Amino acid sequence: MESGGDDARRRGDLSAALRAAGLWLLAPVCVLCGASAGENLCGACAAALPYLEDACPRCASPADHGSECWRCRDRPPPFAGAVCALRYEAPVPWLIHRLKFAGDLAAGHALGEVLGHRLAGNASGAGAIGGIVPVPLHAARLRARGFNQARLIAECVSRRLGVPLLARAARRTRETGAQARLSPAAREGNVRGAFSVTSAVAGRRVALVDDVLTSGATVRALADAVLAAGAASVVVWGCARSTGAHASRLATDKAFASMNSLRGST
Ligand SMILES: [Zn+2]
Ligand SMILES: [Zn+2]
Repeated sequence: MESGGDDARRRGDLSAALRAAGLWLLAPVCVLCGASAGENLCGACAAALPYLEDACPRCASPADHGSECWRCRDRPPPFAGAVCALRYEAPVPWLIHRLKFAGDLAAGHALGEVLGHRLAGNASGAGAIGGIVPVPLHAARLRARGFNQARLIAECVSRRLGVPLLARAARRTRETGAQARLSPAAREGNVRGAFSVTSAVAGRRVALVDDVLTSGATVRALADAVLAAGAASVVVWGCARSTGAHASRLATDKAFASMNSLRGST
């Protein structure tokens, strides 16, 4: 299993190199295995992804039989529901890190297409949504990275569903730093009041889009701000659901180690 994953990553790195050289224009390749699929993910790699099946309908954390989880019953979030397409397990952390830290936009398109496909299913309620708001980066972070990964994913979903993208409706007014190494309580304090939202959301059912949901602190804070700006209701859509800071950190460290060993070997 593990060595298969390493092989896939090696081939993915080759496909990233081919794309970087412009050769993807000649033959679009799968971001995971390098096969010339004509799409960002070949059918076999798409079928083998770790899809999130039984999840809490309110926060998308894994839950038995898809019932509402005890955290949501104990303290309901400001959003009405959440859909995540994938579990944050191999090869998803690797795809996310290719996108965020290696600027591999095809990895982002692959993730956006998977989320769009999931939402296009009948049961997601996506048809009732009147606007998509990507979780914004602070301007300084956006300058450093060159793009907002949540916006890239939101663009794919917007195209797939035909729902307008409200790309400028929300701004992050405060640099909140990385959430990954904070406790859940510290995460909430870190992002509270960090967003400003325009009246573009007023009266609409809004979907917030992010790459990975972990504690949900960021989307809670943004949902509060979107509702305060007059949105009728808020739901949350994410590519992947991580089950906790610890699991997320381990997966992140593993993905980095894998990327660094690939870099070192070429
Ligand atoms: Zn493939
Ligand atoms: Zn829940």
